[in-house]
Amino acid sequence: MPSVADWDTFPFDGDLHPRSLDEPVEREEPRHGEGGVDCRRCAAGDDEYLWTDERWRLAPLQAPSGLPAVVLLETREHVDFDGLTPELAAELGPMLLRVQRAVYAVGDIGNVHVCRWGDGSEHFHFWFMARPARVPQLIGSFAAIWDDILPPLPDDVWRANMALIARAMG
Ligand SMILES: [Zn+2]
Repeated sequence: MPSVADWDTFPFDGDLHPRSLDEPVEREEPRHGEGGVDCRRCAAGDDEYLWTDERWRLAPLQAPSGLPAVVLLETREHVDFDGLTPELAAELGPMLLRVQRAVYAVGDIGNVHVCRWGDGSEHFHFWFMARPARVPQLIGSFAAIWDDILPPLPDDVWRANMALIARAMG
């Protein structure tokens, strides 16, 4: 195992070994909703979101996960990150700070990670992942992996946390 396995934040224990990489593929698989075709974010109604305005929407995950809160900032319009209009790009900075502040409203949050991958789906979306305060094992980029490892939040706690974020955005 490489030295990353010795990090305090490494989520796994026991007998592990790295997978070998396959050969590069001929071309990348299309991402979900490419060109706006059959895009689930475009198809979603505002009632599926925690908060919306004319140009932005804030989505919860479809089910609770391990971290106290994970939400997604999306554009209303179907654009990719590099397709943001100058107006949307100018609004993005303040919007990232606004959403991050709103996620802190959940309480007892040590940090809110703001992440963009965009490998799964084309429609613009930024991740906000709330890390619980005072749990050093959860710091850093492994928080995104711990989110899939920790038992999901109880449904009522998750809904309450989402409501706090919605209220803070309003
Ligand atoms: Zn879309």
